[in-house]
Amino acid sequence: MEQNRPLLEIKNLKKYFTIESGGFFNRKSGNLTAVDDVTFHINKGETFGLVGESGCGKSTLGRSIVRLYQPTGGNIIYDGEDITNISQHEMMKYRKRLQMIFQDPYASLNSRLTVSEIVGEGIETHNLYTGQEKLDKIYELLTTVGLKKEHASRYPHEFSGGQRQRIGIARALAVEPELVVCDEPISALDVSIQAQVVNMLEDLQDNMGLTYLFIAHDLSMVKHISDRIGVMYLGKMMEITESNELYRKPLHPYTQALLSSIPIPDPKKNKENKRIILQGDVKSPIDPPEGCRFASRCRYVMDICREVTPELREVEPSHFVACHLVK
Ligand code: SF4
Repeated sequence: MEQNRPLLEIKNLKKYFTIESGGFFNRKSGNLTAVDDVTFHINKGETFGLVGESGCGKSTLGRSIVRLYQPTGGNIIYDGEDITNISQHEMMKYRKRLQMIFQDPYASLNSRLTVSEIVGEGIETHNLYTGQEKLDKIYELLTTVGLKKEHASRYPHEFSGGQRQRIGIARALAVEPELVVCDEPISALDVSIQAQVVNMLEDLQDNMGLTYLFIAHDLSMVKHISDRIGVMYLGKMMEITESNELYRKPLHPYTQALLSSIPIPDPKKNKENKRIILQGDVKSPIDPPEGCRFASRCRYVMDICREVTPELREVEPSHFVACHLVK
């Protein structure tokens, strides 16, 4: 597997949603800046964890990457090709290479289709296999994700949440993708099932050479699976570094607060660990003013923070932070 070559490069990506005021003229009343000038890359064979509270734009970013949303600005470079503005027809060949696993294993599966039809949809669309070969492929995929051949003729409502997520994973893998955007794939599952699904995703990565963008709302979920992690807050990337480095030496005040809220299994260490309680209101993502998006909740806020938006800068080798405090 070729590593350390960007498979995906995201450059200054923006996704704004127009807010309509309603009424007779239905005028535009503002922009919701879901993703604002985000830059990062994912190397081939790597897992990039993307973390932030709900509403920070991480799922919108994931959906923009697979072009379920059309970006407002910036570039998506996939394997050296700029796919930001290519037509839906041209996007078809990338749909095979770029797949997505959705958060809600209940809503993301069509309840009127059998498992075989759900998993086989992509195989048909991309003309990969037909007849018995297609059926054999579906059986193989079900076995790969820990389900059984007999499950192929059943409907989604006959399965548990964990099993449905496995069906969603089999569907994504059916077209033999290279990069999978995993949008909070374990958030809706019981804690007891979460580790099983994460372990399975790791095994699949090793066996199939997959690259992951793994989206989660808290840092404890991405710790083990990620090589590098990006932390988002209100549409902006606040910190990016290697997974171990982020846990060892978080530099952004928001990352520090997120990490302090993770319980430590050792009761003595847990007692010593000072939880940082974030005070202040979360700013609105609708037409946000200049300055740091985290300023209203930051305990180190300075005058400059309210006036100048901090750039994401490399402050230590491979450690990027957007904060005026970090030199
Ligand atoms: Fe806090 Fe200022 Fe850094 Fe923002 S730029 S995180 S407000 S110190």
